[in-house]
Order: sequence, then structure tokens, then C-alpha cells
Amino acid sequence: MLIVMEKTATDEQIEKVVLAIKARGYRARPIPGGDRVSIGVLYNKGAVDASAFLGLMGVKDVVPVTRPYKLVSREVQPEDSHIQVGDVRIGNGHFTIMAGPCAVESEKQTMETARLVKKAGAHIFRGGAFKPRTSPYSFQGLGKEGLKILARVREDTGMPIITEIMDESTFDLVEAYADIIQIGTRNMQNFSLLKRAGRSVKPVFLKRGLAATIEEWLMAAEYILEGGNSQIMLCERGVRTFVHHSRNTLDLSAVPVVRKESHLPIIIDPSHAAGRRDQVIPLSRAAAAVGAQGLMVEVHHEPDKALSDGAQSLYPYQFDELIRQVRAIHDVYAGSSDI
Ligand code: PEP
Ligand code: MN
Repeated sequence: MLIVMEKTATDEQIEKVVLAIKARGYRARPIPGGDRVSIGVLYNKGAVDASAFLGLMGVKDVVPVTRPYKLVSREVQPEDSHIQVGDVRIGNGHFTIMAGPCAVESEKQTMETARLVKKAGAHIFRGGAFKPRTSPYSFQGLGKEGLKILARVREDTGMPIITEIMDESTFDLVEAYADIIQIGTRNMQNFSLLKRAGRSVKPVFLKRGLAATIEEWLMAAEYILEGGNSQIMLCERGVRTFVHHSRNTLDLSAVPVVRKESHLPIIIDPSHAAGRRDQVIPLSRAAAAVGAQGLMVEVHHEPDKALSDGAQSLYPYQFDELIRQVRAIHDVYAGSSDI
């Protein structure tokens, strides 16, 4: 349930409502909105008696929240969320482009790729230091050394860094280096990791699970928000289907659904969806057209030599072209409203 306060409600009136919620054994979550505060009532087992709150000073309305995900839903926050990372904004009409190699392989490879993607117009640099690989025999990432390389790239290029956190044992370490924490597909329902991310001060980039429904995905985001971290981006990166023409199937229809259901920004990763570079530019155009708020794209300065995901990594000249095309599409889309 959501208690909507009057625009003129005082801090004292808000506090009284919070106390009234707690007195009934529930938890209260004040949610600052555009021009008024709402207070979420959480942890109620059954229906909450609205009349107990309607009479309190400063309360405008009491509305039921029908969705299982509460804090991430539009019912609780009708306005879009946006996230500020340094000078870069995600959401709020911006189309944010994150690019870089699948894995940090060496300082030379990472720096060269970073300079190229920055020149092309990328806003945020991606690169994995801890890599979740299907095979234990594949390159597992450089670990802490990779994080140090990412920090040097940030210093050199000014781009914020996004990198994946694979487990709780390395959480503090990765959190200290990253500007945005990535929780990968395989960890979308790692609930202890989600809870730890909820206590992080860094924004979280939550990829959709390989076979997750949108409800499961939003519930995973709810763990993070409920834990106290409201800086969350969702990332659609393709789901497992029966096809052989691509690594996964990019579920573009998730974008309008997520945007309707949730206030969180949604980013498309066409690289892991396609698994092959010839599909990445067309899917990126589609992402801009369907109303996503950005892209995460794998680019390598020498994809043929990449230690992971080379087949889907763009050559730098292709990334230049991608940015040109995506900007043109986004400019057409910007200003048009969702139907
Ligand atoms: C990645 O971004 O490098 C990655 C491993 O992605 P995903 O979790 O989507 O497979
Ligand atoms: Mn990859």
C-alpha cells in the first residue's frame, strides 16, 4: 500500500505517518516524488486498513499497490528514475552508451579500446575483471589487476567504469573500483548478492537472467531497492530460446513492458543477445527505436585476438558506425511519446 502525502505535508506529519505504520508492525519507506512524498507500507501479510491512515494530518490518499514488486513499480513511483554517474546521466531522455571489451586482458588492450570508444562517443567504459565463464578452462579474468587497469582507464579517459561483481567474497574489492556494479545474467537470482548490492552506495546494473520472466527480474531489482539502494538500471541481454541463428534472443518487447511497469531505466545489450557481430548494429538501432535508455556494447581493438566473446565484439570502425546510426534513430524517437 502507498500513502500519498499532500504537497504541503510537513516533515513532522510525514514522521507521524511513519510511526503509525510501524506501530502496526509494518515497515515504512518514504519515497520522495516530483513535488510530494509518498510512503510505502511494506511487509504487511494481508490487506492494510486504509482508514487508519486516511485520517492522519497531511495524508492525501491511500492507494493499494497491486504488483508483487512494490518499490520498483510505477504504482509507487510514477516518474522515471534517472541515475547520475559523474558527468554521465542515465535516463531522463538521455541515450547512454556503454562500450568496451568483454574482458580486461591487458593494460594495452584495455587502454587502446577505451581511447577508441571514447573518441567514437561512448559515455561509460565496460570491461570484466572477474569473468563468469561457462568453462572452467576459459580465461577467468585478471581479477584485482584488471580492476587496477580499469582505474587507470578512468583516469586517462575520464569515462566512468562498469564492471561485473561475481560473488560476495569479492564485492568490497570490486565496489571500491567500480563506478557502476554489474550483476550478470547468471547471478540475477543470487539473493545474497542482491541483498549486498542493496547496501552498496554504487549504482547497480542488473542483467536479466537467461530464462527469467519480467516479473522475476523486477523482483530481483526489488531486493536491491528494498535493501536501500535506489540507483538501479535494468539490462535486457537476450533470453534462451530454441534458435541457432543467434546466441540468445533479444527480447525487445521487454522494453515497453518494463517501462510501463517500472520507473527504472532499461539498457539493451545486443552483444550478448546476438553472440555475433553482424547482428549488433541492427539490434542497436532497434533498441533506440523501441525506447531503451541506452546500450551496452562489446568492442575490442582487435576482436580476432580477444580472449572472450571475440565473435560478438565490434571492430572500432563498426562502433563508430553504430553510434552514428543509433544517434539518428534516437533523435527521431526523442520527443515522440509512448503510445
Ligand atoms: C558480460 O557483460 O560480459 C556478461 C558476462 O554478460 P551476461 O551476464 O549478460 O552473460
Ligand atoms: Mn562478454
